[in-house]
Amino acid sequence: MEWQDLKSLNKDELTGEVLAVGEKKFRAGQIYGWLHKKLVRSAEEMTNVPAACKARLLENHPFYGVTEVERYESRIDGTMKFLFELHDGNMVESVLMRYKHGNSVCISSQAGCRMGCRFCASTLLGLARNLYPSEMLDQIYAIQRATGERVSHVVVMGTGEPFDNFEALCRMIEMLSDPDGLNIGHRNITVSTCGIVPKIYEFADRNPQITLAISLHAPNDEMRRELMPIAKRYSIRQLMEGAAYYTRTTGRRITFEYSLVKGVNDGREHADELAALLKGLNCHVNLIPVNPIRERDYRQSDQAGVAAFMQRLEKKHIPVTVRREMGRDIQAACGQLRKSYKDKMDHHHNNTEGSGKV
Ligand code: SAH
Repeated sequence: MEWQDLKSLNKDELTGEVLAVGEKKFRAGQIYGWLHKKLVRSAEEMTNVPAACKARLLENHPFYGVTEVERYESRIDGTMKFLFELHDGNMVESVLMRYKHGNSVCISSQAGCRMGCRFCASTLLGLARNLYPSEMLDQIYAIQRATGERVSHVVVMGTGEPFDNFEALCRMIEMLSDPDGLNIGHRNITVSTCGIVPKIYEFADRNPQITLAISLHAPNDEMRRELMPIAKRYSIRQLMEGAAYYTRTTGRRITFEYSLVKGVNDGREHADELAALLKGLNCHVNLIPVNPIRERDYRQSDQAGVAAFMQRLEKKHIPVTVRREMGRDIQAACGQLRKSYKDKMDHHHNNTEGSGKV
């Protein structure tokens, strides 16, 4: 297994390691509680665990987490965006959204992404690496610590493709929903995928209560292949069969995300094609006016276009909502912060290099 750091170990593994360094079993419960319930930031904070025990554990299981680098709070809706640094200098971003029903944290599953969706800022620099379970968890822990407010919902919809980091994702979910951790139930967790079809089947079998969101963005293969390279690997037909299996196995309603790009996928005929595709499936559609990114010239559908698309689906009895945009004033969407931070740093380095040469 790749991840052996302290906070990525589940209870059984931690117990094994505690016994292996010659300690009593109850220490494992103590340590697990410090890490995943009290959310300590360092081993020193685990005050009732003997120093020798901690030192021996840390030899093979380093204490990894995330460190806050930047923080923004929207003046419009209280949405907060965090940029975190990982132990090796990689950066990830996370968002806290405050709703009436509770606080929801959107986490990243990878540093970067290799899926290549055309409209997405997270994938522009490719994949740096997968996140460890601890690094996904610690985004949530750090936000709960920073705000002092309980996090009740988690969406894995930040940077990265969660099904491209599958085992770490499943481990993270196991620990997040543990009563000895934050105890966030599967029903309050949403995972969003671009559609790695075999993993949809596996996920249905292993995590039957999670809400699955599938990024569809096009009603036919031809258009989807233009927008999302993953569509070259799996056809929409295969994707729909996977989706049907998911709802059949789990009884859960699937969310289809559809980002509306002006003049590309937002026509009436596309709404009709989409309605035909989804007919009879236990699902609902979430329309997202695409967030324009600097590197591409995709434009957002206008309000009238969004409303017309929505009405067209409603007429065909497809449940549909328009995603409420949050944190617009703080670049809260889709990998923009990590990218702009990197651009800023690169610019800075180039400048200093330049002046050094002269
Ligand atoms: N890789 C996963 C999860 C991360 S992306 C997935 O593809 O689902 C989260 C959602 O934001 C996806 O639906 C993605 O297609 C969408 N998205 C990415 N960039 C966007 C943009 N610029 N505007 C609107 N939605 C975007």
